[in-house]
Amino acid sequence: MSGLWYTEKQTKNFGITLKIKETLHTEQTDFQKLEMVETEEFGNMLFLDGMVMTSEKDEFVYHEMVAHVPLFTHPNPENVLVVGGGDGGVIREVLKHHSVKKATLVDIDGKVIEYSKKYLPEIAGKLDDPRVEVNVGDGFMHIAESENIYDVIMVDSTEPVGPAVNLFTKGFYAGISNALKEDGIFVAQSDNPWFTPDLIRNVQRDVREIFPITKLYIANIPTYPSGLWTFTIGSKKHDPLEVREERFYEIDTKYYTKEIHNAAFVLPKFVADLTK
Ligand code: SAM
Repeated sequence: MSGLWYTEKQTKNFGITLKIKETLHTEQTDFQKLEMVETEEFGNMLFLDGMVMTSEKDEFVYHEMVAHVPLFTHPNPENVLVVGGGDGGVIREVLKHHSVKKATLVDIDGKVIEYSKKYLPEIAGKLDDPRVEVNVGDGFMHIAESENIYDVIMVDSTEPVGPAVNLFTKGFYAGISNALKEDGIFVAQSDNPWFTPDLIRNVQRDVREIFPITKLYIANIPTYPSGLWTFTIGSKKHDPLEVREERFYEIDTKYYTKEIHNAAFVLPKFVADLTK
């Protein structure tokens, strides 16, 4: 892929094309095709099964929005789980919260962790922090074996193909509810409203049946399909739109602010309609 243009086909008829400077690593792991490439526009990037997972230039948006919305909503998050997220970006953001005593990462593919540390050090650099426990394993199984232990769970998974299929099921959300403490919160990336509206509708419906407070929020991520990304949050007790002003404190971010925290829940009508 050197000096070439690489296209991720996002639908049958539409894709995003990037100029590749150099292919850094390619490997068929036990679970997926892993590609690390250096690009002109977005720096080093990780692709899994031909889909963009993260890029050095825009990764901060996704990782900050997955982590800080639930972590500021919860009054005192101490024990946090990240399912997927082997590139380490969500963990890096989680550690910015001083209340967090332990952050566990469970990614099914150890190769993602290994090559992220090598080629995406700004993203993966906190995976060796003493507050972090890294497990290589199936997030579905980890959830099924956990009860009443986590304050916040974040699902930073691939799309619902291959190893991540089970992570988009109602049974998984029920397991998450069981793994959370009585005032726990979870968030999952739920793809984009332009090309996968049914996925958002289904995730919202399933999560709503389990969590009394279920909402959708959005962020702009240029390398993800359509650029408009959604996150589904399910909470047992704390409403992300009723966070008291004093709860917010200064952390080092590039996208997330307390104003963005609230604004992200203001949805264009065609997106809001997917939540009904
Ligand atoms: N942010 C990206 C996105 O929205 O496209 C995804 C990041 S990527 C690090 C997602 C990770 O989920 C991959 O490393 C993959 O190995 C992991 N994953 C997929 N299925 C999994 C499962 N069943 N259990 C744990 N991790 C899983």
